[in-house]
Amino acid sequence: MPHIHRLSDLLVNQIAAGEVVERPASVLKEVLENAVDAGARAIEVQLEQGGVRRIRVADDGCGIARDELALALERHATSKITTLDDLEHVGTMGFRGEALAAIAAVARTSITSRAEGASHAWRIEAGREPEPAALDHGTVVDVADLYYNTPARRKFLKTESTEFAHCDDMFRRVALARPDIGLQLAHNGRVIHRLPPSPPAARVAALMGDDFLQHAREVQADAGILRLAGFASLPAYSRASRDAQYFFVNGRFVRDKLLAHAVREAYADILHGARHPAYVLFLELDPAGVDVNVHPAKIEVRFRESRAVHQFVFHAVRRTLAESGAGRAAEVSAPAATEIGRASCRERV
Ligand code: ADP
Ligand code: MG
Repeated sequence: MPHIHRLSDLLVNQIAAGEVVERPASVLKEVLENAVDAGARAIEVQLEQGGVRRIRVADDGCGIARDELALALERHATSKITTLDDLEHVGTMGFRGEALAAIAAVARTSITSRAEGASHAWRIEAGREPEPAALDHGTVVDVADLYYNTPARRKFLKTESTEFAHCDDMFRRVALARPDIGLQLAHNGRVIHRLPPSPPAARVAALMGDDFLQHAREVQADAGILRLAGFASLPAYSRASRDAQYFFVNGRFVRDKLLAHAVREAYADILHGARHPAYVLFLELDPAGVDVNVHPAKIEVRFRESRAVHQFVFHAVRRTLAESGAGRAAEVSAPAATEIGRASCRERV
């Protein structure tokens, strides 16, 4: 029998990277979400070769102090939660403290950052001491040569254009969720998106097209503890695939069968089964009512009161479509969200 031994930190991080860093787009997701959590008002993304050669994200957020730079690259180190109670009320995109460590284990990673009030910036690479650097404010995370040291993973990468398309979609999700933040995306030196801070409808139009917005109805439903906002397409704007469906829960893009089903049901009477609606929907509820700690990439969530959430979303979308005259004049009853319990809806910061 082989002896049991502890794995090295690097190998542990490389194993974790298998879950967190599936492809360049997952790196982009983590680094973008960190910028959002840092309170950035402007974020600039530069990609090279579909993000495989380089992903560079610059933000004007709060920055990281010199003495915490090394910790930022360590596994299980985070500024976002401290206790189990915090974990159950997560208000930030990140909280697991593992993304940067995982990324740094499979790509040449550096962080340059200037904390608020610091006299200058510092730059760090994994395993090195911070060095003085030049940066006006905020943070620049530079991730180069993804999987340079893990050739087996590199083989799973697709073509440059496919990897870029995944990065673009990831960028769109963050940009849809946060119209208040100015965002720019460039690929191989060419600017693809330049999005100034805007009202939600303008941001949706910029990313989904004016055509979508013209053929969509605004969804606005408020049951006190559950709120749904956004836009849902009229049947005339249906699509052959699900490529234009964005659902956010407390600002987080999610792929959730329950939510997707609730929306599909709302269209059941008015849309042919082979066609798919387009939508951008934002569900807000008390963070205690939803568990985001289900999957390392946090793309799946679990609702405490899933039936009530389903009913609420279904009725909200169906009512919107019925009011627009799109559906048969269906009887629409009031949302049954009162089932959801004591929790009150907290304002998002
Ligand atoms: P998590 O986001 O789950 O905390 P990460 O590994 O993504 O874990 O980041 C570790 C820590 O590094 C964060 O908690 C945060 O304090 C800091 N950090 C990372 N990126 C930034 C950034 N762009 N601006 C400020 N702080 C950052
Ligand atoms: Mg993070």
